[in-house]
Amino acid sequence: MIDETHDPARTSWVASANGHPDFPIQNLPFGIFSPESGEARPGVAIGDAILDLGLIASLLPERAATLLGGKTLNALLALPADERIGLRRRLSELLSDERHRRTVEPALHDAASCRLHLPCAIGDYTDFYVGIHHANNIGRQFRPDNPLLPNYKYVPIGYHGRASSIRPSGEPLTRPNGQRKAPDQEAPTFGPSRRLDYELELGVWIGAGNELGQPIPIAEALSHIAGFCLLNDWSARDLQAWEYQPLGPFLAKNFHSTISPWVITPEALAPFRIPQPARAEGDPAPLPYLRNENDQATGALGLILEAAISTPTMRQDNLPPHRISHGPAANMYWTVAQIVTHHASNGCNLRPGDLLGTGTISAPDRSGFGSMTELTRGGAEPLALPNGETRGFLEDGDEIILSARAEREGYVPIGFGPCHAIVRPAPVI
Ligand code: CA
Repeated sequence: MIDETHDPARTSWVASANGHPDFPIQNLPFGIFSPESGEARPGVAIGDAILDLGLIASLLPERAATLLGGKTLNALLALPADERIGLRRRLSELLSDERHRRTVEPALHDAASCRLHLPCAIGDYTDFYVGIHHANNIGRQFRPDNPLLPNYKYVPIGYHGRASSIRPSGEPLTRPNGQRKAPDQEAPTFGPSRRLDYELELGVWIGAGNELGQPIPIAEALSHIAGFCLLNDWSARDLQAWEYQPLGPFLAKNFHSTISPWVITPEALAPFRIPQPARAEGDPAPLPYLRNENDQATGALGLILEAAISTPTMRQDNLPPHRISHGPAANMYWTVAQIVTHHASNGCNLRPGDLLGTGTISAPDRSGFGSMTELTRGGAEPLALPNGETRGFLEDGDEIILSARAEREGYVPIGFGPCHAIVRPAPVI
């Protein structure tokens, strides 16, 4: 899967792309944007610019070009991998070869003046729970003696989330009202969540998908994945603790989810694939339908994930966001191929533009915990910020900023672009 588009020596005539932390020419993610005046349309991020794909459609492979008319990427994501790769190779050529500059340059927009939208009409959204350190940490808070339930090492645990409340980076979220009941209270009260949290996750964009009743074999799972993003699964822990039994998360999770709007393709991430970490001694092997040697050898992603916080006081004092955690995305008990195969194993149909979340990805130690409730032990040990402020959970005006970066010696590093949002106060009830 490595070709000339990954060549570290390849540069772009778009000068800002060379050395760009997120979008050098080796990345080329797809998205939906609107320029200052104009309709939403498909584009590709290149350095500090966005290439307007509709304006250069005549220069692109014919079938891909016919899919660029709309305001979503669903049809483009459904392309077979070889055609998506063909499109990437052509875009890389157009943006690197100086001979194309005169024709292509007029189709560039300054990204700073553009607005980014959700890349797809998201039909369905499913959230998994494959971050084993997160599952252990959270499990301990809810069930101190029994953090991991006996199914965890056999079943990629997931639940159906809500697609309607997924929003692109930058759109503020409103603190939810809901039922909260502290353990020492006899009855719940209704009001603003007091334990608002973030969850650092990877998002997986479904490509081709499967027909109802037709499972996806593990060896073919990767061909159904068209891209990746960052996902912040905002969570109201007090609502969650009261409502989650016996059916699982509901209003504690579905009030808002933030994603990074650029679709990072499997091709862009090809150099950064790494072996799936070995299971602990004594853990069961995955059941045969989830087992594949190639997936175990290359099925994890060599990404570093980060979360940072910016409070209103920090912004007022011109202080930069403060990093609260960082760790490798490989802390997943199941690979993305395994979650796709498991999701479709009963015949459930996945469709182009569906979104899967991995679940919160935490590292084994505190430096890499992917949520406030882990970092503060359920609010009991508030985080001390460098300016003297403390946080047990998120307060109104706080902003959470997620980022992801792929690095490997011999290749040009790439990033996912921004995934941030500010907490607005709950509506008065
Ligand atoms: Ca989650």
